[in-house]
Amino acid sequence: MKTVDGNDGFNAVGIGGSKPNAGTGLTTVKPKGNSRKYICPSCGCSVRATKTVHIMCADCMTMMVEV
Ligand SMILES: [Zn+2]
Repeated sequence: MKTVDGNDGFNAVGIGGSKPNAGTGLTTVKPKGNSRKYICPSCGCSVRATKTVHIMCADCMTMMVEV
């Protein structure tokens, strides 16, 4: 018995283009307000965090300070 599937071979993936989020044009995900910057006072390496964290620079073994 053969399987006759009329829909086979008609994979229309990628044709759509009508996603609900596709047309906004604003895809920048920027943390607003909650961004903190930490810097190593020894080497000046800086990182950003979205909340208060206690981190230290592994190169200098120094606590990084918020700026
Ligand atoms: Zn450092």
